[in-house]
Amino acid sequence: MLRLTFQHRKVFPPLAESAGVDHTIELTTRLGDGIFQIRLPLTGNPLRYINAYLIEDEDGYTLVDRGWKADDVFAALHEALIRCGIALHDVRRLLITHAHFDHYGLAGTLRRAGLRELGLHRFDWAFARLLLSNPLAADRAADDWIARNGLRVEEPFDDTHQRLNELTEPTRLLEDGDRVGRLRAVWTPGHTPGHLCFVDVRSGKMLTGDHILDPITPHVGIWGERGENPLAAYVASLHKVAAIGATGALPAHGEPFADLERRCTELLAHETEREAQVLGALTRGPSDAASIARAIPWTRRQRTLAELAPAHQQFAVAETLAHLEAARERGLVTRDAHARPYAYALV
Ligand SMILES: [Zn+2]
Ligand SMILES: [Zn+2]
Repeated sequence: MLRLTFQHRKVFPPLAESAGVDHTIELTTRLGDGIFQIRLPLTGNPLRYINAYLIEDEDGYTLVDRGWKADDVFAALHEALIRCGIALHDVRRLLITHAHFDHYGLAGTLRRAGLRELGLHRFDWAFARLLLSNPLAADRAADDWIARNGLRVEEPFDDTHQRLNELTEPTRLLEDGDRVGRLRAVWTPGHTPGHLCFVDVRSGKMLTGDHILDPITPHVGIWGERGENPLAAYVASLHKVAAIGATGALPAHGEPFADLERRCTELLAHETEREAQVLGALTRGPSDAASIARAIPWTRRQRTLAELAPAHQQFAVAETLAHLEAARERGLVTRDAHARPYAYALV
C-alpha cells in the first residue's frame, strides 16, 4: 500500500508583511568537487533560506532542490547562476529530494524557462498530487484527523503553500539506486513517503534533503487514517544512510556538515527519547494523542504544547501519533478505535 504523509501545509507561519531581501545570507558558496551551494530565500520564514545544490556533470549541471514559487526566489537563483558563471540553459536537469513546497515549488517556473528534465520519486509525485489537487479538502481532512485525536484548532484556511507551490509533472520517476549522472538516488522514506537523498559518487558526499538536518530535527508525523508507519520508515532510513559512510552531508536547511554518522546517531537517540516520553505518559492510564502531547516537552526549549502556535500544536500531535502508531505496530500499545478521541493504552 502506498504510504502517504500530509505535511507542510501549515509548517510555516504567515509571511511577514515587510519582509525584504535578507542581505546577510551569502548567496553562493563553492564547495569544491564541482559543487555549488545556493542559498535561496524563504522570505518571512525563520529558516531564512533553503539550499539548492548545483552539481557539475559531464553533460551539464544538475540542480537539486530549489525554493518555493516566488519571484524573489527565481531572481535569487538567476543571480546565483550568474555568480557561478553558469547560464540557465547549462542546467540540464532538476532533481527533487521531496515534494514539499520549499523544495519543489519553483520547478514549474524553471520548466517553463526551458529546463527539460525533472526527476523525483514516484511516491512523492503521488504525494504532490494528493496535496495539490484539492488543497482545501486536504487541509480540512488533516484538521479533522488531528481533531479526531483530541486537538481541535480553529483556523481559517491558509493557502500559503498553495500559492508557493505548483503541481509540475516529472519527466522521470526515480527509484532507489537509480543513477543520474554522478548522483545515485537513495530512497529514504519517513519525512515524506518518497523522500530521496543523493550520494555524489565523485566526492562521496550525500545530499540529505530534509531527511537529515543539523541541528533541526526533521518532522515525521501522521496526518490521516492511512495505516502508515512513517516513524519506522524514518528510523530505517537513518540506519540506511549511516551505513553508506558518506564523507559529508549537504542538507537542504542549515549548513553542510562533515559527520553524517554522528548526526544519524543523534537523531536515532532523539526518537528513542521521544518514544520513552510518549510511552511514559501512558503509564498513568489510557490517553489520546493530544493529551500525551500536552504532557511532554516540545522544541529544543522544552516548551509545553500550549506555548506553541496552533499549527505547530497540530505538528506535535501528528508527531505523537507517529510514535504511538510505531509502538502499536510493535505490539507495545493498543488503540480503542471506538473512543472519541482515539484512546491509546499500554499493553
Ligand atoms: Zn520537507
Ligand atoms: Zn524543507
